[in-house]
Amino acid sequence: MSVLDLARADLRHLSGYSSARMEASGGDIWLNANESPWPNAGVAAALNRYPEPQPVALIEALAAFYQVSADRVFVGRGSDEPIDLLTRAFCRAGQDQVIVSPPTFGMYAMAARVQGATVCALPLLAAHGFAYDFAGVRAAVSAATRLVYACTPNNPTGNGLPVADLLDLASALRDRAVLVVDEAYIDYAEGPSLIAALPRFDHLVVLRTLSKAHGLAAARIGVALADPAVIDLLRRIMPPYPLPSPCVAAALQALSAPALAATRAHVQIIRSERALLAAALAARDDVRAVLPSQANFVTVRWRDAEAVYAHLQVHGILVRSLRRYPGLEDALRISVGSPLENRRLLATLAARVVPS
Ligand SMILES: *Cc1c(COP(=O)(O)O)cnc(C)c1O
Repeated sequence: MSVLDLARADLRHLSGYSSARMEASGGDIWLNANESPWPNAGVAAALNRYPEPQPVALIEALAAFYQVSADRVFVGRGSDEPIDLLTRAFCRAGQDQVIVSPPTFGMYAMAARVQGATVCALPLLAAHGFAYDFAGVRAAVSAATRLVYACTPNNPTGNGLPVADLLDLASALRDRAVLVVDEAYIDYAEGPSLIAALPRFDHLVVLRTLSKAHGLAAARIGVALADPAVIDLLRRIMPPYPLPSPCVAAALQALSAPALAATRAHVQIIRSERALLAAALAARDDVRAVLPSQANFVTVRWRDAEAVYAHLQVHGILVRSLRRYPGLEDALRISVGSPLENRRLLATLAARVVPS
């Protein structure tokens, strides 16, 4: 059995839209894509040509960075796009199911709902530090299950999932479902990536992004790493030209050696600032708990989260309220900022009069 047997049968042999850029390359007079022959006079870079659908240079740079072969790399508009495409590729509306473990990233369930797939929610174990319920997930897998999501470190709880357990889960899901491991925050974590395990599991997908540690959120560059058969399927159903040229150029820059050195230095600062923030916040009387974080945020439970949120907002500091996340209604998710920003956050909190 191949992972493609889990995909929608009606898509398995779809050849995909054939765009002008895919059909022909080379040449020096391009009259095949109905573009303007002139760049727009008002913009800095030449943008008159359609971009490469899957830019070769960027794919190669990403393959080198993640240490995989280029046929295991799909680049999309943020990780949101591979999440959406995986859902479309594997889930039949009204029949198939995805398993998510809330509180977690909302896009997994959102993409499933848009596609008409059923969402099976198996909560993280709140009483055990929001540990992933590996036994529960395995028991919940049914003939309808197509995608199982695991986010490590998890957003918004910040905890990393044990790699050994993820590998066991991958083994258990063979021929049954695709395991999607979202490593958006792994650059800030201690643990290793699951990328090295990709050759052993054709039904494993690892999601990475340049939006966080690489500082490119506005460029919308997300990556799915998987078996070449899965990558090929995603490429056949993706929109024709998902990646704007300026974003591809920015991503290539971000993967250059000097930029990667700067990224590593920034990650070190975020890690030490995270420890400092967590300790300072845990010492406060109005804080119930600071969840241990492997990511670039700290999630904090408060005696009066709404009042803290309002106080910070009045002073120009925006944090994320988690009041809509079951089990985290009293929590705020605070991104780790620059050292100066974090000082201002702590000073603003210190100036707050806590009602007794
Ligand atoms: C931020 C985030 C991403 C990245 O999303 P992009 O679309 O690549 O910006 C992916 N997964 C999780 C859990 C996130 O929090």
